[in-house]
Amino acid sequence: MYPFPVWLTRLLLLPGASQTRILYYHDISEGANPIYFTSLSPAGFERQILWLKKLGYRFIPLSEVYAAQEANVSLNKTVSLTTDDGFSSNFFHLFPLLKKHKLPLTLFLTTKCINNQALAWNHKWIVIRKHTSPDKLELLLKQHRDSFQLTWSDNPATTFNSVSMGQKDALADLLWKEAIQDSQEEFLARERPFLSLEQLGEMLQGNVELGSHTVSHPFCNSLSYADLKSEIQDSCQVLEQISGKKTNLFAYPYGIRTSQEQETRIKEELGLKAMLGLRFSIRLLDHPPQDRIRMEDTPKRNYLEFTIKPLGRSIKDLLRLH
Ligand SMILES: [Zn+2]
Repeated sequence: MYPFPVWLTRLLLLPGASQTRILYYHDISEGANPIYFTSLSPAGFERQILWLKKLGYRFIPLSEVYAAQEANVSLNKTVSLTTDDGFSSNFFHLFPLLKKHKLPLTLFLTTKCINNQALAWNHKWIVIRKHTSPDKLELLLKQHRDSFQLTWSDNPATTFNSVSMGQKDALADLLWKEAIQDSQEEFLARERPFLSLEQLGEMLQGNVELGSHTVSHPFCNSLSYADLKSEIQDSCQVLEQISGKKTNLFAYPYGIRTSQEQETRIKEELGLKAMLGLRFSIRLLDHPPQDRIRMEDTPKRNYLEFTIKPLGRSIKDLLRLH
């Protein structure tokens, strides 16, 4: 985690110091998640936490970021931890470390998956890919090429993703039947990849708050306004039933935003404080912060995400201003 000395890192972090860095983790585990590809080990996560503490960062819940901004309270050198989808690995591997280091977390949940009720289309697709050779996958996709109007590519993921949003589940269900021996119900009962209500209840007793990650994990930029609104509104209602609290925090699946116009309208109509993307774009100086930094993968990349990239972005932002 220390490609540069701590003093140099501190210097690099100065331009964005007054802004909360919102960090995003997907899966903290030893890589055994059956419905996800990339994981950060619990030991790797703990190293990052200790590194942030050494740099003088304070950990605050995401809801506090927006409350502090409204009250004009300083957010200097603060970090907010978030995670998406609601994997049960969050309970087994992340939650014990949160308790150990007294850290808050915002958990963005895809509500149809809670309590292992269902897989979202993207999880089905990951399981299919994990259990099928590329040749067989190509063959299976070819069978559905015309009926699902697939645009063919050498990359099976690109071919699969060319199906419309409304048909992704149907295509994934067909491929599942052809490629996987277990039914989805059997798979869910055996693997239990998502948080149960009991696990969620225990996490909510700790310093964990909930946010919406939609009902079904769609690409939000390909939904109509009405569909996008109900994806967020319906999931917020489920979360309120579970936690007894209204949430006004939302994170886009894949960090892919809808249009600015739809975003402003939906924020207003649903009273959302946050609609979080990921930092693909150059928006270091955004207030309030709306994009998250991905902290999985390799330590070196995390380090660059946290230090050099924001620095580069801020310089680029400043050059644009003048
Ligand atoms: Zn997600």
